Amino acid sequence: MENKTFALEILTPDRKVYSGDVESFVAPGFEGYFGVLARHAPLIAAIRVGEIKVRTGSDDELLFATSGGFVEVLPDKVTVLSEAAEEATEIDVTRAESAKERAMKRLQEGRKAWDVARSETSLARAMNRLRVAGKIQA
Ligand code: ATP
Repeated sequence: MENKTFALEILTPDRKVYSGDVESFVAPGFEGYFGVLARHAPLIAAIRVGEIKVRTGSDDELLFATSGGFVEVLPDKVTVLSEAAEEATEIDVTRAESAKERAMKRLQEGRKAWDVARSETSLARAMNRLRVAGKIQA
């Protein structure tokens, strides 16, 4: 029988967040979530803030928060390069709550356009972390 698993690595500038054999991988592309199984056609895709969902076995699923980056798909290996990524249980909920409060406060103060844009992306990262940690509804 053909191998139905492939190697996955999730890397950030400062660490290896995950490395292992998986059965499926789902990531937040710019045109929506996309999935990868073993022997997928090669591709490179940009990803946005969202969830990475990985199935390591029939009943085992891992969830990661990503702040976006790139995914390289090869027939037997998927590599994620992300500015920041955390597995759901690694997420510091208190820190994400304060990041969310800070970003909302800055948005209410409504300063220059680039400031608003930065606050919006901070808010998106914080909300995503809270969602992945299971602290808020989708
Ligand atoms: P903060 O304002 O709390 O730093 P941020 O969204 O600006 O949040 P990032 O720049 O995305 O943070 O990430 C910086 C580093 O901190 C990354 O290594 C990231 O994995 C980690 N990190 C950020 N927030 C959290 C969190 N709530 N729990 C665990 N790790 C986090």
